[in-house]
Amino acid sequence: RPWNFSAGPSALPLEVLQQAAAEMTDWHGCGMSVMEMSHRGKQFTRIRDEAVADLRELLAVPDEFEILFMQGGATAENAIVPMNLIGRGGAHKADYILSGIWSGKSYKEAQRYGDIAVAATSGAAAEIDGVRQEPWTWFPAVAEWRLRPDAAYLHLCSNETIGGVEFSDWPDMAALGAPGVPLVVDASSHFLSRPIDFSKAALVYAGAQKNAGPAGVTVVLIRKELIGHALAVCPSAFDYVNVAESGSMFNTPPTYAIYIAGLVFKWLKQQGGVAAIEAANIAKARLLYDYLDGSGFYINRVHAGSRSRMNVPFFLCDESLNAEFLAQADKAGLMQLKGHKSVGGMRASIYNAVPLQAVQALVSFMQEFERRHG
Ligand code: PLP
Repeated sequence: RPWNFSAGPSALPLEVLQQAAAEMTDWHGCGMSVMEMSHRGKQFTRIRDEAVADLRELLAVPDEFEILFMQGGATAENAIVPMNLIGRGGAHKADYILSGIWSGKSYKEAQRYGDIAVAATSGAAAEIDGVRQEPWTWFPAVAEWRLRPDAAYLHLCSNETIGGVEFSDWPDMAALGAPGVPLVVDASSHFLSRPIDFSKAALVYAGAQKNAGPAGVTVVLIRKELIGHALAVCPSAFDYVNVAESGSMFNTPPTYAIYIAGLVFKWLKQQGGVAAIEAANIAKARLLYDYLDGSGFYINRVHAGSRSRMNVPFFLCDESLNAEFLAQADKAGLMQLKGHKSVGGMRASIYNAVPLQAVQALVSFMQEFERRHG
């Protein structure tokens, strides 16, 4: 198979696809495809329970956190989060860090539900370490965040998939003077690529279709004490109380997507867990960034301290070669490298299921392209 650098939905481990194919018409001798099972039956209940237990083990999710499987993607969570949390405490306020397109969408959606403020933004050019950074190519420094201690929560996106900006050093809210403000994180595009510090975050959500499985299921990890404050307008299916109390089966869940996510969790355990996959992700990212930094032919514009391990946007210095680059890459078996339309250029998404070998193949191709056109 060619190497797939799609930002999402993205590459799944081949072993997972092969196992799903082998089990497609008859899951474990029960005579049914997972798609044909009642979600209330014993087979699917087992699939759901194992997925939850494996995810809890992989990320060391503490008992004080509920693991929910929901629908609607991270986009729906942009509304579900305020609908469930903003009424807590009565102030109907929340603060947002703006670091790119995805956090911007979260901020916009939340405005329908209360008094929403920008706590910090990277939406302007800045000088960092003596270098001029363009908007959305850096993450706002924690020291600059303006927090309201009576906010119902602070929201940030910890990996901006389009800009290629990652923020992993989540702060302790108490140390920032906002001890009662829970940190809510959209971790969609680096979920399961590195450990999560649950002493810092109170709610983490992620659409599955990058590192966790196919589109259709959204994972929500939420501190139990935050559940139970939904606004009256919140649809029942999106009230965290109902989702938690029903074991993510308030209504028919996306059964097949949960099943594949469960296979991905088992695959991750076989790779050595999150610590092992993180080490592999570090090696992959280093290889690509080192090559980009050493080349005068390509450029990555993200501040070095904010570069994403998962999504690497880069540009050819001579942009007239873009179409040729993409056509040749496709021929060489390197797929879906075109950058997001709002940024242009190229983007290599190197999620968990993309092995080092794929990044090596990409770098070799880029070197050869540079040799011929540089
Ligand atoms: N947040 C981030 C960081 C994303 O990368 C995406 C999609 O790529 C979304 C939110 C939106 O996810 P969905 O399309 O599943 O609603």
